[in-house]
Amino acid sequence: MQSVNPRDDFDMVIIGGGIIGLASAYYATFRGLRTLIIDQYGIHNDVNSSKGIERMFRLMQDNESEAHLAETSLALWMELQLATGKQLLAMDDLIFFGHRDAPMTTEGNVQQIKKTMDRMGMPYEYLDSPDAIHRRFPVFNRAALADDYVGLVQAASASINVQGAAKAFFYAAKQTGHLHVLDKHAVIGIDFHRNPLTSHRYTLHIQGEDKAISVHGKYLIACPGVWADSVLTPLGLQQTRNWKIWQMNYAYWPLKKHRPRIPVWFEFGNIDASDNGTFYGFPPLNFSPEMQNMVKMSADYTYDIFDAPSAIRPGVNDRLMEELSQHLGHLLDAEIIDATNFERVGTCLYSMSPDGKLVIGRIPTEPCSQSFYPGASMCIMESGRAFKYAPLFGRVLVELALEGKSRYQSDLEIFSPIRKGLFETPNQSRS
Ligand SMILES: Cc1cc2nc3c(=O)[nH]c(=O)nc-3n(C[C@H](O)[C@H](O)[C@H](O)COP(=O)(O)OP(=O)(O)OC[C@H]3O[C@@H](n4cnc5c(N)ncnc54)[C@H](O)[C@@H]3O)c2cc1C
Repeated sequence: MQSVNPRDDFDMVIIGGGIIGLASAYYATFRGLRTLIIDQYGIHNDVNSSKGIERMFRLMQDNESEAHLAETSLALWMELQLATGKQLLAMDDLIFFGHRDAPMTTEGNVQQIKKTMDRMGMPYEYLDSPDAIHRRFPVFNRAALADDYVGLVQAASASINVQGAAKAFFYAAKQTGHLHVLDKHAVIGIDFHRNPLTSHRYTLHIQGEDKAISVHGKYLIACPGVWADSVLTPLGLQQTRNWKIWQMNYAYWPLKKHRPRIPVWFEFGNIDASDNGTFYGFPPLNFSPEMQNMVKMSADYTYDIFDAPSAIRPGVNDRLMEELSQHLGHLLDAEIIDATNFERVGTCLYSMSPDGKLVIGRIPTEPCSQSFYPGASMCIMESGRAFKYAPLFGRVLVELALEGKSRYQSDLEIFSPIRKGLFETPNQSRS
């Protein structure tokens, strides 16, 4: 790896070594850009939102834009898989099931998703009763499925190999010879210079473990996860108080039977518009040797919500784990798992936008402004759902920084950084 010298000049500087930063580095270096990626905890750290073993890939969405974006992303995942020769996706059936008329959650609801699939002519299988769900996947106890439960099954879904994907992007970028890395360095300041005679330039002030340095970049991509304010504040923006950090809990259950038929699944068990009662899980996967005969399951709601990274109290929530194991003991066949016997409990952070939609685009110079920093783009407030889009978003962020627009713009409108309620000017309402 190339070393980084103080006052070095780069074509592209990427803040954040999570999956979106790594994907951006892949597409930037592929274009021949001298690229620096910086992470305060190190690339591949165990603190950010990209940690763990698996994520869900799905075409099933509650709106057409996200379904289109997922289709494109699937093609790019396949391309990366072929280019690197690594298994990044384990394709499988995904079942969405739950109350026929469950209110919308941040993940949608069964009826809304069905409508979107119908409008788009996307193939799926509809299971119109709890009996139909149980017949299709006997792993789900019939007694645990309410009488108004219905289901959607889609075959072009997958579990994403999290560590495999991070390594694939990183090593492919490294192989170009254009990648530079600053591990365990935090960006603490950004100066923007607009010079009408030459061109714009960003100076980043960076704190390492024992010394501070500054580097320069013509283009800037920010994908800082829950630490977004550390990058945005120097640029005159701050997330509003309606932005939140959700600390999510998950665990792995050893299987009593060897590799039973379990699909990727998501249950809309909520009865109101909160996410309480939503659960999901994965089949046994071979992404990690010690997890081969285990299944991961999680609640898609939390009792631990924070206003800022400094407020986070890491730790597993006993009440949530109790609810999760009770629910699974009811839902899954007792011959398959012992619901009380879970291992490897973990937490991971969602950065939740005020409206539950993530944010990707150019960086506005003020909240809701149509004026943007030149040569800069960001992906933040990913609201627990950006992993599936990683290759597409990496490509989009590079396009936006270099060209100021993306060929996927119309579908990306729903994630616009200039929609209302996302940002305020620093300390506007905090003093
Ligand atoms: C439990 C859980 C389950 C999920 N399930 C799914 C799923 O099934 N499907 C799906 O599509 N998505 C899912 N997601 C969401 C997905 O994992 C995230 O959207 C994605 O990983 C976010 O990646 P990122 O690169 O934007 O952010 P992160 O991974 O958080 O990376 C941001 C990085 O920026 C660095 N950074 C921040 N500020 C600075 C600074 N000032 N200087 C230097 N470095 C800085 C941080 O150290 C961090 O490493 C899930 C998330 C969680 C937590």
